Amino acid sequence: MPPAKIYWRLAVPSPLRRSFDYLPSAGSDGGSSPGCRVRVSFGRTTAVAVLLEHAESTPVASHRLKSAQEVLDKEPLFSPELLALLKWASTYYQYPIGEVVNNALPAILRQGKPAEAKGESCWRLTVEGREVKPESVTRAPKQAALLQLLATSEDGLLARDIDAVQSNWRAVMRSLQKKGWVSVETQVPKSKSVLKTDTSESFEGVGSKIATPVLNSDQQKAVEAVTVKLGVFGVYLLDGVTGSGKTEVYLTIIEEVLARGEQALILVPEIGLTPQLVSRFKERFQARYETPVVVLHSGLSDNERLSAWLKAKEGEAPIVIGTRSAVFIPLAKPGVIILDEEHDLSFKQQEGFRYSARDVAVKRGQLEQLPVILGSATPSLESLENARQKRYQLLVLPERAGAASHPEIAVIDVRKQPMADGLSSALVNAMSRHLKNGGQVLLFLNRRGFAPVLLCHDCGWVSKCKRCDAHMTLFFDRGSKRLRCHHCGSERPADPECPDCSSTELRPVGTGTERLEEALALQFPDVGIARIDRDTTRRKGAMQSLLDSVHDGSKRILVGTQMLAKGHHFPDVTLVGIIDIDQGLFSADFRATERMAQLIVQVAGRAGRAEKAGQVLIQTHYPDHPLLKVLLDEGYGSFASKALDERRLAELPPYQYMALLRAEAVNGDLPLQFLRHAREMAEPISAGAGNVLLLGPIPAPMEKRAGRIRAQLLLQSSSRAELHNLLTPWLQQLESSKLGRKVRWSIDVDPQEMF
Ligand code: ADP
Ligand code: ZN
Ligand code: ZN
Repeated sequence: MPPAKIYWRLAVPSPLRRSFDYLPSAGSDGGSSPGCRVRVSFGRTTAVAVLLEHAESTPVASHRLKSAQEVLDKEPLFSPELLALLKWASTYYQYPIGEVVNNALPAILRQGKPAEAKGESCWRLTVEGREVKPESVTRAPKQAALLQLLATSEDGLLARDIDAVQSNWRAVMRSLQKKGWVSVETQVPKSKSVLKTDTSESFEGVGSKIATPVLNSDQQKAVEAVTVKLGVFGVYLLDGVTGSGKTEVYLTIIEEVLARGEQALILVPEIGLTPQLVSRFKERFQARYETPVVVLHSGLSDNERLSAWLKAKEGEAPIVIGTRSAVFIPLAKPGVIILDEEHDLSFKQQEGFRYSARDVAVKRGQLEQLPVILGSATPSLESLENARQKRYQLLVLPERAGAASHPEIAVIDVRKQPMADGLSSALVNAMSRHLKNGGQVLLFLNRRGFAPVLLCHDCGWVSKCKRCDAHMTLFFDRGSKRLRCHHCGSERPADPECPDCSSTELRPVGTGTERLEEALALQFPDVGIARIDRDTTRRKGAMQSLLDSVHDGSKRILVGTQMLAKGHHFPDVTLVGIIDIDQGLFSADFRATERMAQLIVQVAGRAGRAEKAGQVLIQTHYPDHPLLKVLLDEGYGSFASKALDERRLAELPPYQYMALLRAEAVNGDLPLQFLRHAREMAEPISAGAGNVLLLGPIPAPMEKRAGRIRAQLLLQSSSRAELHNLLTPWLQQLESSKLGRKVRWSIDVDPQEMF
């Protein structure tokens, strides 16, 4: 009998929601494993595809079948489980498999280059360079600084060493090389397998700077619940107030996982914002592993990313820490997945492949038979409901660890109070008191820039963005006034006079962090102020130096946006002031109150984390708002259970499953036209699929954004399966719709934001 013919089913990067069949490449027996990359001709170009599976038959006519050009990998890049995860994500989020797989590859592998770590450049001073006197380059201060830095290391410096100290140094380095003062060579990072079971010594504080605390009984219970089930799928919701020692729980579980010769994957919202977390992991394990932690963050070069990715895949990195996209990283021996701050919105990708890293992590745990730990002081309502339904096991840490106590939270009713630059006198007085007693103060305001609107006092003109239904924010850039739209990024100098009536009475309305900082500098001239928001932390290292100035006490007032709410530990902060929560109480988005509550609790958690007792003051015009009252009187748990009751009554997630079809176009009629057409196509399918509600189409809450008109159609069902039974055939139809080519459309499964 002739051997059965084999076809290769490939994931080819393409906007089409399907895989593509090819014949095996000439000279290959077709036996390459799924998970290997394959180069193929595709349309008029070539593409790097990934082999998904061997098929015994194909719907493609034989004269149209092409042979693959070449196989790029000897060993598969993705395990069968990870491939299954990628396929699942493609189906669940209705995103093309080719793009989903591509998204999981580092850029260098997407280009078809070999899956091996390229050396890293290493710069060092030449003999000549060592003799250069710093005085002789005083006219080139950047060169002088770089020379000085290089002189500190005999072995030379890697890009990331230099990045940590100096920005934009590459051009400067090139001129030093030209002068013959610096030489560069390529170092291949040493690789050795470090995943060995090691039972020779106990872990307790071996060589680490921080002593390992003895776990309290709640922590111990949480650790045990997970460690007795290593190697088995299970989801654990670790619900612990800030400072309750969740990170210690993670670390202890990781010790056990590593002792089994397995790896730990830690997902965090934003690495740049949590340098403390990464260093804590490194310190705990550095005595035992040469490179205990590999960190994947947006600042890596393509080569660094590939090298980190390969270390994870080969099992050379015991601990991998990354943001949401790391949920797809291959691991030689996965042992546990931990998602810290699981409620955080950044785990959901909001464009393109709109996956939730939290939900993908849970699916991955199921496919790879791992425990998945979701940690938060303010768990999402989705996860709490899953715990209620016993799909997730709830682990609670109710008390702060060590000596710290819960902060006292109170409301300042600002109605009819005199306010200056957003500050009530009650808050200012409290600040003086805490500062006098040696404490530090943290003020939270989720609005950057100087003021959210510029207004003409004579005619009422306001600074609207021409491209969006939004106001432009006034801010200062090196002393000059400018306007910027936070939705589309447009920016321009602020008008010196009103464009409508030429009046010069233009006034900033409302308060942003810049204005708050300025006002505070007048109120508290002797106290240093650190402002932490996207604008002050853009430069590399800026965040760290601001944090340092708070930790060394040279800055005692912190002003910032939600960047401050994440994971930081400020032991000397005794007062937290929340400037304005009123927006969160009346938003059109049904999730707004949940987010507000999470933010309040997270920000409040920054106070009194050490021995000093903390106080939290919240300014609001609505001190009697029922959900706010429950939150403050009874805590987040009671708030969440009230909010869940409301969601159930209102038939909203997590009791209903949603998908949002969005469309936008410059031509304002097209989006609604397309969505009406889409609705017509969905109706016959939904009639067969059971109960899926089609709501809309309606204009998006922010109808105009970046010059495009936007609209949306909402699909809702009490059954996830029925929703998906509709989505798959429907999107196939939408893909070939002519009208669909005239708009930009996208589908968002489990949308988190409705605008
Ligand atoms: P979380 O991650 O929940 O915010 P952490 O793990 O960062 O909490 O712990 C908060 C602080 O309490 C840290 O300084 C940590 O070292 C300390 N800590 C944690 N567990 C204990 C414990 N069992 N005994 C004493 N201190 C502890
Ligand atoms: Zn005017
Ligand atoms: Zn705009």
